[in-house]
Amino acid sequence: MTDQVLDVVIIGGGLVGGLTALLLAQGGVQVTVLDAAPVLDAKQVLAQANSRVLALSQASIHLLKTAGVWQHIARQMPYSGMQVWNKNGYGEIMFGQASTRTPWQEHILGSMVEPSILNLAIQSQMQSAVQDYRTQVKVLRIEQANEVWFIHLADGTKLTTKLVIGADGANSFVREQAFIDLDVLDYKQAGLSCAIRTQKPHQYVARQIFLETGPLAYLPMASLTPEQNGHWQSIVWTLPEDYAEEYAQLDDAAFCKLLSLESQHMLGEVLEATPRATFPLKARAAQTYVRDGLALIGDAAHVIHPLAGQGVNIGCLDAAVLCDALLRDAERGVWAHVQTLRRYEHSRKGQNEAMMHSMSALGWLETTQLTPVVWARNFGLKQVEQSAWAKDLFMQQAAGLNSLKNTRYAI
Ligand SMILES: Cc1cc2nc3c(=O)[nH]c(=O)nc-3n(C[C@H](O)[C@H](O)[C@H](O)COP(=O)(O)OP(=O)(O)OC[C@H]3O[C@@H](n4cnc5c(N)ncnc54)[C@H](O)[C@@H]3O)c2cc1C
Repeated sequence: MTDQVLDVVIIGGGLVGGLTALLLAQGGVQVTVLDAAPVLDAKQVLAQANSRVLALSQASIHLLKTAGVWQHIARQMPYSGMQVWNKNGYGEIMFGQASTRTPWQEHILGSMVEPSILNLAIQSQMQSAVQDYRTQVKVLRIEQANEVWFIHLADGTKLTTKLVIGADGANSFVREQAFIDLDVLDYKQAGLSCAIRTQKPHQYVARQIFLETGPLAYLPMASLTPEQNGHWQSIVWTLPEDYAEEYAQLDDAAFCKLLSLESQHMLGEVLEATPRATFPLKARAAQTYVRDGLALIGDAAHVIHPLAGQGVNIGCLDAAVLCDALLRDAERGVWAHVQTLRRYEHSRKGQNEAMMHSMSALGWLETTQLTPVVWARNFGLKQVEQSAWAKDLFMQQAAGLNSLKNTRYAI
């Protein structure tokens, strides 16, 4: 038991919670972070490649650099081009360009990082920059009482805080304890992911092909062996649920053959594939992001379709906007005022939901086989391809820098 009233307790020390903790600590706030997971074993993480990567936008990379995390990233793959096309049509669009050697920093659109490598870097920076960072913590209950929240831990500790930040992921316990309802949209599709080695090099281009069954993405990833660097990609394949299960059961040779064919041999033959994982695709949106003295961020507040690879990026923008608002409060001698939390919600919820709805509409567009829709989509891709202005606008949106404009993290 302690009588001390803490300024902020962040529940969840993953990418978004960790980034929030580091930005607040940098602003002079005393932060407590509680995470259920243990500290990762660096040796183990580095020795094993994930089959999944996160496509980090320029804004996310900028925020991770600001928080001192980026310099701890042990493995990543920058990408300088993004190519999207239809299997059964003529629409194609290319953002940026391919490159035969590692692109210069100023030419990259973003970078692909394995989740475990990112978490390792976040944990490492938190260990040195966050004073009260606790791992393997089990939170039993949180409850609100007279302008504070009580947090009861399984070891008998009770923490008292003015602000709880729920950054505990898609199945957020904080959201549940705060009685915040969730809207769920089941896409009735599944994602299939694994890492593959292709005959031809990716040339630092992320590729997405729209198949009749759903989009298939090839995302360049770093290889554990230097001689194979440039030939490994992480795939995310959106499929009807029964197809995903069937494809996941195929043996390696049959899966590589199927993928080579379905991808129209975009990078020649698929030579190798790691074990396949499938996951259901559901969008989730918390009905409110805030209560008095409590805010939800990252996947605790929203989960979107992986199609655009934006989940973590919109979480990083939540972190930046919330930290900026809280630090402005602190500079004025107030802390976590309800209006401040509402401003954060106002600034992020609409944008996140717009992104979510556009993904839902796109998801439907991409799986439809109705000819006019295919035409319209092809026409759209072609129009965009021919318009420098539209391409520029799309690129800016994907970079995420506009959302940082009115914050202290603007560049
Ligand atoms: C296949 C797939 C591909 C994806 N690809 C991309 C991509 O390319 N780009 C992209 O931007 N996003 C992508 N995403 C989404 C991205 O992975 C998530 O948006 C991101 O991990 C969310 O970060 P977070 O910190 O909010 O939550 P999480 O990463 O889930 O972290 C939650 C943290 O909270 C902790 N925790 C959980 N419960 C408790 C508790 N009760 N008490 C204490 N701690 C707790 C956990 O230990 C963890 O550390 C993808 C997702 C999937 C499934």
